Amino acid sequence: MCKNWPVHVIGGGNSAGQAAMFLTQYARKVTLVVRGSDLRKSMSSYLCDRVAANPEIEVRYRTQVTAIEGTEHVGAVHLRDDDGNIAREETTGVFIFVGARPRTDFLPAELARDNKGFVLTGSEVAKLESWKEQRLPEALETRLPGVFASGDCRSGTTKRVALAIGDGALAVSCVHNLLGTYPT
Ligand SMILES: Cc1cc2nc3c(=O)[nH]c(=O)nc-3n(C[C@H](O)[C@H](O)[C@H](O)COP(=O)(O)OP(=O)(O)OC[C@H]3O[C@@H](n4cnc5c(N)ncnc54)[C@H](O)[C@@H]3O)c2cc1C
Repeated sequence: MCKNWPVHVIGGGNSAGQAAMFLTQYARKVTLVVRGSDLRKSMSSYLCDRVAANPEIEVRYRTQVTAIEGTEHVGAVHLRDDDGNIAREETTGVFIFVGARPRTDFLPAELARDNKGFVLTGSEVAKLESWKEQRLPEALETRLPGVFASGDCRSGTTKRVALAIGDGALAVSCVHNLLGTYPT
């Protein structure tokens, strides 16, 4: 859809950097719109180097997208930088990588979450007054005894594939531990 047309990517993290690099294979130009003034604060150094070395990526620092125009498809974005400069740029696609929200709304209220909705587990649950068990929670155990959470949905974790895989393995140990502690 974007072949030989300009596109915009919003965000300064690794996901945005990877998307920008990927899109240069097709788009005529990729504009990376970043709120901060230094990509290295939020993006891996290897990726910053690749973005900087790619002549088809323009990074617009200290800039936010304030509007997206279009009817049947995206036509333009409105940009505003921290100095108040406003620009309208034609584009055929806007790709947004500005953070993740966990889909944990469906869980019962008693299953404690942090203020962003990530599920509390293990040592965080142990601090809760509402944890009434006579034992400490297992590392991945939630506020509901016997219910475990692993991967990205957990509060305070690094959102990475390797961590999610490790959590999967750890969950098995947690279940075994718990089954061993319960009276038969
Ligand atoms: C654009 C992008 C780029 C990334 N790049 C990297 C990278 O380069 N390296 C890296 O290590 N990590 C990267 N990550 C992060 C990585 O993808 C995650 O850390 C990892 O996938 C987390 O695995 P998970 O199993 O915890 O969650 P997910 O992979 O999100 O899996 C959760 C699953 O649960 C399902 N689900 C949700 N709600 C329900 C429900 N109510 N009932 C049943 N199923 C449900 C979802 O459909 C999904 O299949 C990237 C993430 C993104 C978004």
